[in-house]
Amino acid sequence: MILRRLTIILLLTTLADSATNLDTNISQDGTVLLSSNIQPVHYDVHLKTYLPGFAWEADTRNLTFEGEVVITADVIEATDRIILHVDSLNVFDADVKTNDPNINITKWEVTPQWQSLTLHLSQVMEPQEGIAFLLKFRGKLRDDGDFSGFYLTRSYKSNGDEVLNAVTQFDPNTTRSLIPCFDEPGFKTTWQLALEYPVGSVGLTNGIEMKTVEINGEWATTQYHITEKMSPDQLAVFVGNVQYKEAFVNQGVRIRIFADPENLEKVDFALNVSYTTIKGFEEKFGINYQMQNLDFLAVRDFKVGATKTRGLIVHRSSPPKVKKMHSIMTPLMPKYPDLNDSPLEKFLESLTTRTLNSKIARFAFLWTRQAGLPTVIVSKTGSDKIEIKQEIVTKSCLHPDGCFPRWDIPIWYHDADSSNTKLTWLLYNLKSIQLNSSIPLIINADSNGLYKVLYTDELYEEIGEQLKKFSKIYSPSTKYRLLTDASEQVWKRNKNASSFLPMIEALIDDDNEHVRRAAKKLLAFASRIATIQLEPENPVVQGYEDLLVKYFSSTPSFANFSGSATFLDVFGSEFDTQEILISILIDKNFDQMLERLVYWQKTETDPKILEIIGKLLDDLKPSNNLIFKIGPAEKQEEWRLPTKVFPIDYNLELTTYLPGYGYKEDEKTLKFHGAVDIKAHVVEATDRIVLNADSLEIQDILIDTVVDPIYSLISFISIFKKNVTITRWQLSSKLQFLTIYLSKTIEPKSTINFTILYEGKIREDLKGYYLTRTSDNSKTLNAVTQFESTAARFMVPCFDEPEFKATWKVKLIHPDGTVALSNGIEMESGPTGDTGFTYTEFARTVKMSSYLLAVFVGDVQYKETVTDRGVRIRVYADPQKIDMVDYALNVSRVTVEGFEKQFGIEYPMEKIDFVAVEDFAFGAMENWGLIIHASSYILGKSKNVLSTVIHELAHQWFGNLVTMKFWDNLWLNEGFASYMTPYGYTFIDPEADRDFSQTSDQEYGLNGESEPSTSITKYVRKDDGDITNTGLIYSKGSSFIRMIEHIMGADNFNKAIRYYLNNHQYQNVVAYDLYEAFERFMPNGTVGPNGKPFNLVEFAKCWTHQSGYPTIQVQSIDNSSIQLTQHRRLYKNVTTFKEEDVCGHKWDVPIWYQVPGSDTVDLAWLGRNDENLVLNVTGPVVINANSNGYYRVLYSNQFYELLSTEFQERGKTQFLSDSSKIRLLNDIMNFIGEIDAKSILPIVETLANDDNLKIRQRAEKTLRKLKNQTGHSFDTDMTKPLFEKCSLNESFDECSSKIETVIMDEFCRKVRSDPSQENVTRYLLNWLNVEERLEYQSYFLKALSCADSGTLDRLLLAEYRELRKRVNFYMGMERNKVKMPAKQSREFLMFEHDV
Ligand SMILES: [Zn+2]
Repeated sequence: MILRRLTIILLLTTLADSATNLDTNISQDGTVLLSSNIQPVHYDVHLKTYLPGFAWEADTRNLTFEGEVVITADVIEATDRIILHVDSLNVFDADVKTNDPNINITKWEVTPQWQSLTLHLSQVMEPQEGIAFLLKFRGKLRDDGDFSGFYLTRSYKSNGDEVLNAVTQFDPNTTRSLIPCFDEPGFKTTWQLALEYPVGSVGLTNGIEMKTVEINGEWATTQYHITEKMSPDQLAVFVGNVQYKEAFVNQGVRIRIFADPENLEKVDFALNVSYTTIKGFEEKFGINYQMQNLDFLAVRDFKVGATKTRGLIVHRSSPPKVKKMHSIMTPLMPKYPDLNDSPLEKFLESLTTRTLNSKIARFAFLWTRQAGLPTVIVSKTGSDKIEIKQEIVTKSCLHPDGCFPRWDIPIWYHDADSSNTKLTWLLYNLKSIQLNSSIPLIINADSNGLYKVLYTDELYEEIGEQLKKFSKIYSPSTKYRLLTDASEQVWKRNKNASSFLPMIEALIDDDNEHVRRAAKKLLAFASRIATIQLEPENPVVQGYEDLLVKYFSSTPSFANFSGSATFLDVFGSEFDTQEILISILIDKNFDQMLERLVYWQKTETDPKILEIIGKLLDDLKPSNNLIFKIGPAEKQEEWRLPTKVFPIDYNLELTTYLPGYGYKEDEKTLKFHGAVDIKAHVVEATDRIVLNADSLEIQDILIDTVVDPIYSLISFISIFKKNVTITRWQLSSKLQFLTIYLSKTIEPKSTINFTILYEGKIREDLKGYYLTRTSDNSKTLNAVTQFESTAARFMVPCFDEPEFKATWKVKLIHPDGTVALSNGIEMESGPTGDTGFTYTEFARTVKMSSYLLAVFVGDVQYKETVTDRGVRIRVYADPQKIDMVDYALNVSRVTVEGFEKQFGIEYPMEKIDFVAVEDFAFGAMENWGLIIHASSYILGKSKNVLSTVIHELAHQWFGNLVTMKFWDNLWLNEGFASYMTPYGYTFIDPEADRDFSQTSDQEYGLNGESEPSTSITKYVRKDDGDITNTGLIYSKGSSFIRMIEHIMGADNFNKAIRYYLNNHQYQNVVAYDLYEAFERFMPNGTVGPNGKPFNLVEFAKCWTHQSGYPTIQVQSIDNSSIQLTQHRRLYKNVTTFKEEDVCGHKWDVPIWYQVPGSDTVDLAWLGRNDENLVLNVTGPVVINANSNGYYRVLYSNQFYELLSTEFQERGKTQFLSDSSKIRLLNDIMNFIGEIDAKSILPIVETLANDDNLKIRQRAEKTLRKLKNQTGHSFDTDMTKPLFEKCSLNESFDECSSKIETVIMDEFCRKVRSDPSQENVTRYLLNWLNVEERLEYQSYFLKALSCADSGTLDRLLLAEYRELRKRVNFYMGMERNKVKMPAKQSREFLMFEHDV
């Protein structure tokens, strides 16, 4: 801020000095303020946009635009120059026309720092003269994530392909970046635009289009109607791929809603609303809407909710979502939520003016901007009085800027005992309205309004009785809507089933067929609720039963479900009732129904049927499943937080009394003090707030405000705050709950602000907020956090489960001389009033789970880099180790750029810090923006550093952006982070073999399961609240994901992943959400077991909910066929399986196989219910080709012999991928003792000569094991000839080519036992010095750790000084390993393994 102001002063000084008669001022932001001697009147603009992806072939002009503008202006005061605004444009031609032909432009100049363009005229223009001047210019479409000016916005086709569109968003003073103009709001002019755009795209601007000309089939030019007078920032331009639907209001106002083609179906709702209600407004106010057209445009990347540009209203849409509610403009969560400055609220404020147009705009805005429909709640307030209010639905959208769920609602109702319809308004800012009536009123008469109505039980009964008597006076639409709304309410709300009976009785025999069906539907739903709510003998239940028998005597039986029965066979063609019947059936057999529906979805072709099936499947999802909602409540563990209150934002101030720095130590030393303000939403009525806290001393809790639901989103209206106090609070150490009891019950949808003051002790057990040594063990200490899974509650009272995402604003107060870090970028820092303390404030985070919060205070330094997009990356380490961070720094920059590209989602915060700490329970922790590493996992250059850094960065998307709902699905985080790590290798080294790296993970998992383990969806809660999962969530999770990749193909898989991340960002997911994304991109015709359509949910069940894996046994039947069977093998020393068994220890196994010599890998299925799989192949075949599958293969001896012959004949030829070879070796290794050694020997020996070091190594190990077990003699001590044959100045590769095999373990033995230690040690140091490949370096280092330390030190000092730091660090790390906790389930374990 200070810097900026200085610049302005300097500029002003320069101006004054130059003493020209420049009629210019400099505005606050340093740009030119125009003089008033020229007044623009009109702009004629021709603008051509070179947008790729359409008819023209992109060339050097791609992603640019060029234009001509003719500006007509009046001269107000005499002048010899014209100054106007321009920014980032190349003005390449200028011309002027006046009445005096002698006047021309002598020169023009652009002054970038003032954003000005000065045209010098050959002579002075006098007042009253008219002038027109022409400018030609070029510019670039912006793509810097700022969503400002004329910029690129992206939409996605259903196949995931990206489509580029260009749209404007003119913040004040940015129109000048599109067109040179007088860019101040005071200069209002008319505008006439012609847009030239690629054929295939659509051009839109403020005026209605007049005519379009097409040239060469490549470019089209549309001329638009002249606008009314407006300021430059009201200009809007769009070019891109959209379609529209339109409607005309009586008087001819055209309304169009544009959206990308994929979302076009969703615009009907907005269109209807705009239409119905502009009409309504015209009638109500008796004035017609003034403009010819009103276009709404839904754009995905848009920084505010909507603009009010005239005639063309641009909205932010969402990525396509599976939403049942039809609305186009589901808001996308903003990336930088700023709670204090909601653009939405500001916009609403600006709309609340008194003109008709703005009322319509407000109305249209409210209806089109938000997802969902309003629900109108009707209740009785007296014998002939009802109250009508709107329900504010916030549960699915907790962010205050994310949604604004209120509407201006036209309330249509029938007048008492006549069929006249009346209209009144429930405006968005009214709490409620009252209506008087002697009869029960039915709201939303004739179904005019697009909203739901919910009555009280009492009113439903009264309406039912009214309908029994006077059914005829209500229109069929009225009755239909009443019943349909009721059907939904009866499901979703806890309504009393008996209250619907009169209504059903009154209408089930109605004259109108649609009404009859709606009544039947309500009957089906209400009767189910009745059986749940009431005793079987209850007369209401009986009443429903009677009606059911009468109206549903033809309920289909389950027998019809099987075999080839089609949807129509089972349910007939009455589409309305099918839904009802199915919902009754779902109740009785969920699994069977689900399976059948999935089958039909794949096989049916009738779009109508597919729509019904789609809707039903949507309902069956766990999250929406009615059965789950209505059936007996899921047993909730007592230590889980209630879901009545959800946090929105935390404001944390934390003071850390860390000794060893500037302040004077006292009794507060080694403690921390906290004050946290929490803003939360009340979702269900409650008289208490329950959150997590443990080992903290709560000093005080204050309620700041409780705001009524209707006003809850307008935080500044504090007069509506309620008088609520805290009666007491209680800490439960068993449940780790802090329960705050309130003086009264808070209504749902209220907002509550409260503050907790507390104190805690910095821990020493590597959990929560704890002490860590600095690396030289000096007196100074650092404090750092490790919260996953449940230790945030040790530092700050919070809603400490992943589902409770919120933003965090953190301020740290820390001893002078320490560095303080948190998730957000540092904003402000300075001394506090307290001597010896500094404060540092950090930017508010994005919405995230509490386990990702992080804090560090201590003595560190950093090195820094910046990604190409400007994300700042720093690695912090102890000052004496700061030179060892370079490798991690480089890896992280490349990886962030790589992942951004791969996922199509930018890293959403300004910075990523890594911190190396000495005492850390895991390898690293992915806290959003502040990643903490054990120092050996980030310092220096090693495979561990590489893989850990990439893994943690992958979590920034998988885990941080999209988070599991609870810890049972932690495998989604870890499986994906592990799966993505080898992609990271390819960013660093494009040659890296991703598949081969992934087989290493796979083998680790398979080995891990040779002992009893649990499924990857199980978790255990420890006494201190920590939740642990099996370590297999990494390797098995990753291997499972990889199988899906190979089933659906890499392209489809990547599209699904992008969709999944986009669709669930800032939200929580269950595994089903992932499957839904995969299903969406699963190629048509993907087949699963038994030739049936592939069912991913079924496939996943056995792999994720069962422990263990199948072993596939292979044997020949005859010359042209082989037989495969699956078995689960028992663990070592275990005789029976004890753990869960959801699929009878069987799996649906995708069998990938390849005939040696062939390039293709084929896929067949061995289903979990199949006895065997017969493959018709001649000759040997390799099962589990490319090691795609998470299983082992055991061939018969005879078959191994066949393979051996094949291997011997082919020798080293590359007939199998490296992944296939390593799989074969790993499996052989695992089955040694069961296989006849002779039958496998040729295979192993051939592979011991492979080009790939890891394969050679593995083959050597296998040979050694064979030797041990069979007494067979093989010379495996291959290092001896190596050292004899090589000379000291040869590289490792040169040496190793002279011998047959190399095993690194042998090096170690050799180094230890060799009498001339020095020579061997020197070989290794020589190689280390020149070796580029990381894994080779690791081997040499490992071997060096076996060397005599005296010899090694001497050589390092005398001849290899440049290697000293690296070698010593590695040795230190080796020693440190012992100090690490022996067994951990998190990031620690996974990096310790290798093939
Ligand atoms: Zn991880």
